[in-house]
Amino acid sequence: MVAQEYSLTTALPGPASQALHSRRAAAVSSAVGATLPVYIDEAGGGILRDVDGNQLIDFASGIAVTGVGATDPRVVERVREQAGKFTHTCFMVTGYEGYIEVCEQLNDLAPGDNEKRSALFNSGAEAVENAVKIARSATGRAGVVAFDHAYHGRTNLTMALTAKSMPYKSGFGPFASEIHRVPMAYPYRWPGGVDQCADQAFDAFVEAVHVRVGEENTAAVILEPIQGEGGFIVPAPGFVARLAQWCTDNGIVFIADEVQTGFCRTGNWFASEYENVVPDLMTTGKAIGGGLPLAAVTGRADLMDAPHSGGLGGTYGGNPIACAAALGAIETMRADDLVERSARLGKLLTGRLEDLASRYDVIGEIRGRGLMQAIELVSDREAKTPDAKTTAAINAAGHRRGLVTLTCGTFGNVFRFLPPLVIEEDLLSTGLDLLDEAFAEVVGA
Ligand SMILES: *Cc1c(COP(=O)(O)O)cnc(C)c1O
Repeated sequence: MVAQEYSLTTALPGPASQALHSRRAAAVSSAVGATLPVYIDEAGGGILRDVDGNQLIDFASGIAVTGVGATDPRVVERVREQAGKFTHTCFMVTGYEGYIEVCEQLNDLAPGDNEKRSALFNSGAEAVENAVKIARSATGRAGVVAFDHAYHGRTNLTMALTAKSMPYKSGFGPFASEIHRVPMAYPYRWPGGVDQCADQAFDAFVEAVHVRVGEENTAAVILEPIQGEGGFIVPAPGFVARLAQWCTDNGIVFIADEVQTGFCRTGNWFASEYENVVPDLMTTGKAIGGGLPLAAVTGRADLMDAPHSGGLGGTYGGNPIACAAALGAIETMRADDLVERSARLGKLLTGRLEDLASRYDVIGEIRGRGLMQAIELVSDREAKTPDAKTTAAINAAGHRRGLVTLTCGTFGNVFRFLPPLVIEEDLLSTGLDLLDEAFAEVVGA
């Protein structure tokens, strides 16, 4: 694996990256985004080594994917072995053990000791689409309720579920029908204040579903137990559990979208565990595959078995190499206790962010769990005015120093931290020093 050392040998981007970036402009659709114009040659642990030999610190994990790192030995070994045996059969044509084993692991790891089944897909969006198909098929209802600030993907149905227009939806409609949006229990920005947030958001939700959709027309409610792209919003305590219970009481399928929060990211296997919620259906993706594309729907056996035989599937879903990678990644999460590590490094991260907040007034709130944390930047702490401009400037200042960070949030003013769960403590600390320098450069020491 690449040495776990931060070092810059050129200004970023270096000449080799610049050359690739020019080639990209001539070959790749400009609609595909690029956070940093840097191209990677090798990666692992908490380091991304670029084609100029610069070793950047990874605070993004390729958007919460490489929890076990980009070259976890167990993933690499199993992928090599599987690729030498066969790359594909299509599980719907002739099966293989890896697919079944991943489903067994998911059924075991997912919250609740009820009887469960799983099905595998290629991407988080595809998993969400299938969760909705399953809920509709099982209930015979069409309506789906999603929240403000939600992100569920970029396919047509998941764009409809996603809240934010730019860049995800703008110009890409018309969108799927029967999607209804309700307010999110966003404590920092709840008009009635933090203390009222859970109760008032829950009441608003119940009223909206009753009045606008009708319980008897509602197939599913879908929620990220900590919202990802929308700003790492941790719902007010109690909100998720009340929603899930209300869904049960009304015969509505509660879908927890754990695509970003799953697999030890938040200091638990799944974020739903923080409120002891057993989702009817849970979608996973991102970190499940140790870097290879894989996603899943896991949930109550009676729901998962509701669609007709042959109703779910796809050519590549649960590809054998992706399954081998997932089994390696899950083995590492268990063997190296990444739940504990995520929680422990998360405390260290919180401490450092609190120190930053004590020195920089632009930080309005620190939130998140485990190694899924964020800071929301505001130009005025009282008025909580979102400060997207400063957020972008600090992000760029970090990027120039070789710190790979991402922003998010409906208002573009949230810095999110998603380092690989296996990042060495020293490297995490060096990365936070670089972040501190970036703040000093943009908003003064
Ligand atoms: C990333 C994400 C998705 C979409 O996953 P893709 O693999 O990009 O299709 C869905 N839901 C959540 C919560 C996500 O963070």
